[in-house]
Amino acid sequence: MTDFSGLAIAGRLATPADSDWDQARQAWNLAADQRPSAVAFVESAEDVVAVVRFAAENGLRVSGQGTGHGAVALGSLEGAILIKTERMRGIEVDAGTGTARAEAGVLSVELAEAAQQHGLSGLPGSSPDVGVVGFHLGGGLSWLGREYGFACNRVRAIELVTADGEARTVDAGNEPDLFWALRGGGGDYAVVTALQIALVPVADAYAGIMIFPAAVGAGAVRIWRDWAAEVGDNVTSVVRFIRPPDIPDVPEPLRGTPLLTIDGACIGSREEGEAAFAPLLEIGEPMMNSFDQVPPAALCRIHMDPEQPVPGLGHHRVLRELPDEAIDAFASMADADSGTPLLLTEIRQMGGALARPAENGGALSHLDAQFAMFGIGMPMTPELGQAIEGRLDALHEAMAPWAAGGGYFNFAERACDADAILPPEVCARLAEVKGRYDPDGRILGSHAVSLDAAA
Ligand SMILES: Cc1cc2nc3c(=O)[nH]c(=O)nc-3n(C[C@H](O)[C@H](O)[C@H](O)COP(=O)(O)OP(=O)(O)OC[C@H]3O[C@@H](n4cnc5c(N)ncnc54)[C@H](O)[C@@H]3O)c2cc1C
Repeated sequence: MTDFSGLAIAGRLATPADSDWDQARQAWNLAADQRPSAVAFVESAEDVVAVVRFAAENGLRVSGQGTGHGAVALGSLEGAILIKTERMRGIEVDAGTGTARAEAGVLSVELAEAAQQHGLSGLPGSSPDVGVVGFHLGGGLSWLGREYGFACNRVRAIELVTADGEARTVDAGNEPDLFWALRGGGGDYAVVTALQIALVPVADAYAGIMIFPAAVGAGAVRIWRDWAAEVGDNVTSVVRFIRPPDIPDVPEPLRGTPLLTIDGACIGSREEGEAAFAPLLEIGEPMMNSFDQVPPAALCRIHMDPEQPVPGLGHHRVLRELPDEAIDAFASMADADSGTPLLLTEIRQMGGALARPAENGGALSHLDAQFAMFGIGMPMTPELGQAIEGRLDALHEAMAPWAAGGGYFNFAERACDADAILPPEVCARLAEVKGRYDPDGRILGSHAVSLDAAA
């Protein structure tokens, strides 16, 4: 048992001896059963330095966590201090340079709201309360992504603490390899205390969700696929089979009803947006259609992702193409007749700038895939958990013939090495960075690179 009395921080240190330990170790994803040696609720970079130095002196590891959205992928925290950054919520926007500085606990919607006051935007994804740091370290797939690429490549500098307990700011000119690794390679290389991000000049967008009965089925997915091949890079969208739970939180016409939804965003005027999405009405009359001209922060909510902690088990695949047979395979796993135990099964549109190498990009410069398939279920009982895992395996297998190589870091919800996600040459460089900056494996992040990759 480590004696933590020598660790003094301005924030709070929680240990298994505390009466609220179960709450302190809880992640946003309630399916994760995190059992670290202690949890440090840090309030500053100085706190992080103190925790990392204490860990080094006591043979412990450390792991950075903003919210715990990605906690299932993290694996065991045995012998580690979990550094929760939720108290570090400072945001500064510099409208002159078009940049923002977000501390490590800032949520996606908080950055979006701060930026939009200046007619600017970050690159928001589908969840309002995902952490800005975790989202960027794992890539960052946004509603604005086909126009601007992965969010990680808009990070201009990273404030962090390395495994030797030194606070540093890394960028293209200072520690460029570490800067490169953290932009898409995950959080296995340092504990991040703040990100400096180049915002984009997007003051509003035409965005929303169309909801159809799931009976529109594979035919609707085909219409979406054909439409997706034609729209400009200023449009990014998602098609999804969803079975909203039969609970009072869900409005009556949708509660417990199998649905097919298409949501998306178009950077441009209302007229451009209406014209871009109009061909999808060939599917039929939506039960609900919320498309409208909205400020960037509203993009965080069009997908209706949960804003409270929930249990979730997910799995994904990136796809190079989506021919009719692939759509049939997808629908047979997910549509109203499929008997799926999953809450949702979706295909996100990729391509555009997401598929083009970013200038001076990081470990995830781009992804050579046209679509990303993702499924998730809520394991309310162990039996349901087993059924969900079984369906996720079957879905993954069913889409194998159309798989692009590797995967997408942020959607890799199961624990696996980076080697299963990122290309070999990227893993070789990540392994070299890991060996140089963290030779004792002090820092623990999801999807660590295997050190053999350096050979
Ligand atoms: C409902 C939902 C919707 C999502 N939508 C999208 C989407 O639209 N686009 C997309 O790209 N992804 C999406 N994701 C995936 C999400 O981006 C990843 O799970 C991401 O890792 C979450 O970051 P976090 O900080 O919230 O989570 P955490 O679990 O706190 O962090 C995930 C990992 O990031 C690293 N990390 C976090 N903070 C630090 C730090 N301070 N220092 C070092 N490492 C750190 C660690 O390795 C950590 O294990 C979604 C996930 C969910 C659950």
